[in-house]
Amino acid sequence: MPKTIPEPDAVSQPFWDSVDQQKLMLQHCASCDRLQYPPRAQCQDCGKAELTWREVEGKGHILETMVVHDTRVVRRKIDVPFNVALVSLDEAPYINFLSNLPGVKAHEAPQGAPVELIFEELEGSDGRFIHEWKLI
Ligand SMILES: [Zn+2]
Repeated sequence: MPKTIPEPDAVSQPFWDSVDQQKLMLQHCASCDRLQYPPRAQCQDCGKAELTWREVEGKGHILETMVVHDTRVVRRKIDVPFNVALVSLDEAPYINFLSNLPGVKAHEAPQGAPVELIFEELEGSDGRFIHEWKLI
């Protein structure tokens, strides 16, 4: 399934660099002892800008699912209908990711099922990757 190639900015560059190394690194605020995603310049809770990066294990659960039958994203038109799932990260359940659940047919995504992190090489990207989630 072709996906959009990310365009990192100064704040998100370390995140995308880790994904290209097939690791998932999230920002961590020492004051709040909380992880943060997506990357931001400051902690979304306390506003401090002293954030570090922490690798996470990459286990999660499907919270919600839906199926896309039409899209304005040209690269994705050949894939409709496709799943979009909201995945909750087990080690920080307040952090959610979107996933297309590779390998799962549209309308067959099991709500509540456990998933794990995988990395897909992006077509036409010269070795760039994107994080994804697959059923365990
Ligand atoms: Zn904070």
